[in-house]
Amino acid sequence: MNELLKALEAIVGQEGVVLETSVRAQKAVDLFALRLFQRHVGWEATLPQAVVRPKTTEEVSKVLCLCNEHGVPVIPYGGGSGVLAGAETRDETAVVVDLSSLNDLIDIDEVALQVTCGAGMLIRNLEAAVQAKGFKLGHYPQSIELAQMGGLVATRSTGQFSTGYGSIEDFLVGLEAVLPDGSVVRVKNVPRRATGPDLRHLFLGSEGAFAIITEVTVKIFPIPEAVWKQAYRISTMRQGLDIIRQVMRTGIKPAVIRLHDWLECEKPFGAFMEENECMLLFWSEGRQEIAEAEGAIIDEIAKANDAISAGEKPLDIWYVHRNDAADDYEKYGAAGLLVDTIEVASDWNDIADIYEETVERVYHEVPEVVFFSGHSSHSYINGTNIYFQLGAFPERDVDSGKSVYDAVWDIVMEVALEYGATIGHHHGVGKQRVPWIKREHGSSYILMTALKRMFDPKGIMNPGTLLEH
Ligand SMILES: Cc1cc2nc3c(=O)[nH]c(=O)nc-3n(C[C@H](O)[C@H](O)[C@H](O)COP(=O)(O)OP(=O)(O)OC[C@H]3O[C@@H](n4cnc5c(N)ncnc54)[C@H](O)[C@@H]3O)c2cc1C
Repeated sequence: MNELLKALEAIVGQEGVVLETSVRAQKAVDLFALRLFQRHVGWEATLPQAVVRPKTTEEVSKVLCLCNEHGVPVIPYGGGSGVLAGAETRDETAVVVDLSSLNDLIDIDEVALQVTCGAGMLIRNLEAAVQAKGFKLGHYPQSIELAQMGGLVATRSTGQFSTGYGSIEDFLVGLEAVLPDGSVVRVKNVPRRATGPDLRHLFLGSEGAFAIITEVTVKIFPIPEAVWKQAYRISTMRQGLDIIRQVMRTGIKPAVIRLHDWLECEKPFGAFMEENECMLLFWSEGRQEIAEAEGAIIDEIAKANDAISAGEKPLDIWYVHRNDAADDYEKYGAAGLLVDTIEVASDWNDIADIYEETVERVYHEVPEVVFFSGHSSHSYINGTNIYFQLGAFPERDVDSGKSVYDAVWDIVMEVALEYGATIGHHHGVGKQRVPWIKREHGSSYILMTALKRMFDPKGIMNPGTLLEH
């Protein structure tokens, strides 16, 4: 055992420094889609030298301080559900800091409607804890079974009910984090303030490249009294996007608005629609009179735009199966199918063009692609996202997988950048989006590099993730 490992043991105890190959292998990867294909055809992970499991903020502080002194790369590891290799080890000298032991429920404040917990708490456990008191988080990523609260903050996550409740930046009230030199900083819990730049945002989306988040406080909501839901058939994605735009500009905030193209509809909703149609799903919740009033506005706009009601059933189907993807990932890779999801966002001027051009180009330019679909699932008054879903059958080897994967990503990123859209709506940057990140930020990229230098002058924090190393 080298000196560093002995010093780590002195901080977190013998049981807190894990050297077993199986654990290092498990924590060397996340759910980066390319690897889910490649690891069935000979790809091997680079293992970190150790997985360290601190139990307190103080231990995190000492671990970071030690690694910083020795210039050892540190990879913060949450639930491992990231899809862009953000937590993937690419340097065998790295130490993975597994945050799953920082999982205490610290406080549920039923007056201020906020809950505080350790960053390693799984969101599903936090949801269960607040539900037991008659509240809900309002934040429901499809990875709810896997993701931790700290990971959700670190990746600027969003959830399936975001159109009504907002994304993680709207929920996050305050946090505690540890900087690479071991300093512990806290951004206090207040509803809003005008005391300089909002420091929460230095950590939201920092992806372990600046600091380790150790505690978070997020908003909670009363469980809604009523739900209004309705599905509509429409002819094209362009028409559906325009209906969503019209709904959003009325100022109402339905919890869920989803628009799926035919490829995504055929299996779950095919019985409710004609071939090649698209499906719009609306879900409003809250007090009875509010849910009904929102429903009446939606219905009026949808019908004025030739949408045909398909009843509530498609919403029930979506709700029951909304998180199924997580179970299927492993199956696809084993079957030689390369699957991935890529999310971009734009304002209403361009979003339909982006959808159409991207789909057209991917089919035309990448023959291995067997399906490429899209949906809009997070809407705003000024725009929405498109979440593309890919399925391809490359030759079954590591390089072929990568070349098909790169070809599709190149197209999606290029189209988004050409239109001035964002290349990433909610999965973060990880390592996968780094090649495009300078163009994403343009003239403000110097601020990202300045922040990195300020937080992490020795460059030990998650090298290669979020920005160029
Ligand atoms: C099936 C599936 C569905 C998904 N659905 C959604 C969705 O609906 N919405 C969505 O936003 N995302 C979704 N994701 C992506 C993923 O779940 C999110 O990015 C999630 O926020 C990652 O959290 P995690 O705890 O698993 O983090 P990890 O994957 O462990 O880490 C992600 C990044 O954050 C860093 N990190 C983790 N914890 C900390 C910490 N405490 N302090 C500092 N840095 C940290 C890591 O170093 C890494 O760079 C999905 C993923 C899958 C596999």
